[in-house]
Amino acid sequence: MNALDTAAPPSLEIEFDAPIPTWFGIGGKADRLARPRTPEQLAECLRLDPNLKVLGDGANLLVDDDGISELVVILGGPRFTGWTIDGTSLRAGAGANLPKLINETVRKGLAGLESLGGIPASVGGAVIMNAGGAFGQIADAVARVHALDRQGRPVTLERAQIAFDYRKSGLSNLVITEVEFTLTQADPVALRERHLEVMAYKKKTQPMADKSAGCVFKNPTLTEELTLEKLDPAAGQATPFEVHRAGSRVSAGMLIDRAGLKGLRVGGASVSPRHGNFIVTDAGARARDVIELMDRVALGVFARFGVTLQPEVVIWRRTR
Ligand SMILES: Cc1cc2nc3c(=O)[nH]c(=O)nc-3n(C[C@H](O)[C@H](O)[C@H](O)COP(=O)(O)OP(=O)(O)OC[C@H]3O[C@@H](n4cnc5c(N)ncnc54)[C@H](O)[C@@H]3O)c2cc1C
Repeated sequence: MNALDTAAPPSLEIEFDAPIPTWFGIGGKADRLARPRTPEQLAECLRLDPNLKVLGDGANLLVDDDGISELVVILGGPRFTGWTIDGTSLRAGAGANLPKLINETVRKGLAGLESLGGIPASVGGAVIMNAGGAFGQIADAVARVHALDRQGRPVTLERAQIAFDYRKSGLSNLVITEVEFTLTQADPVALRERHLEVMAYKKKTQPMADKSAGCVFKNPTLTEELTLEKLDPAAGQATPFEVHRAGSRVSAGMLIDRAGLKGLRVGGASVSPRHGNFIVTDAGARARDVIELMDRVALGVFARFGVTLQPEVVIWRRTR
């Protein structure tokens, strides 16, 4: 590392060999980590390393055991973690905690984000991933995104300019600084009930208390028709067949389950018995265990159904 790499404005401290907190609770460290509190400090960080990586809540992230050499930034301070509400318009810093923000909007009777209840995320991370699920996705409420490009120049994108799709935004080359949302006025009691309903569904269907990064694979779109035995849980046995048409999106968790891979383990990582698309880690697990398990699961699903699974989880690997 040369002297230029470590040059920084006096108010911006660089930590060395810093842990990278993620929901998996495993993985290597950052050679350098900074906590910019303003867009100006973030621009300084981009001057230090245009390839820097932004850490949101670390809920969709696996850091390889060797750590990474790029500067890691955590957006801190009130400018990046706060929000303002004006009528039905919400403006939130990219580092704001999404669940807390949702609680506040629900309390105020503002609808639009409650369908994301129970998803751990920062606002920036949720927009980059277009987080969502059975009840909706964050793109539905986004009005405008403010960001810096890799040269540190401010960029504002209207919703119509953003190519949101299933679990992607096309924005990963930008550093999101703030997001504006358009919400709608709603009955606070009904909204609260809806929010609780969404959270209860997640708790019932996903191992929320375990260490994971949520779904590790995207739900694949089928390139060919897939015929599966239909399971009738009431009878506890296979009944005729269910047909999934080419072009339809199927649940990766269902395929993993049907391939008999629930419970498969590599070292300290295992496929959750509660949800096939969740890999959960024990104390002592290594990132390598998760990566190898992901490979084995993808191979198992391909061998059984001819369907290729693509990772949803972002993996940071050392490049130099
Ligand atoms: C228990 C559990 C349940 C989950 N359930 C769901 C679910 O139902 N639906 C769903 O969609 N996801 C779910 N997830 C995954 C995760 O919550 C989402 O993907 C979330 O959007 C990740 O946000 P984050 O802030 O943690 O991003 P991180 O994991 O920190 O980062 C993810 C990516 O976003 C980038 N990024 C983060 N912030 C910024 C920024 N400001 N500017 C540019 N890039 C940025 C990072 O560099 C990285 O590439 C779940 C995860 C867990 C652990």
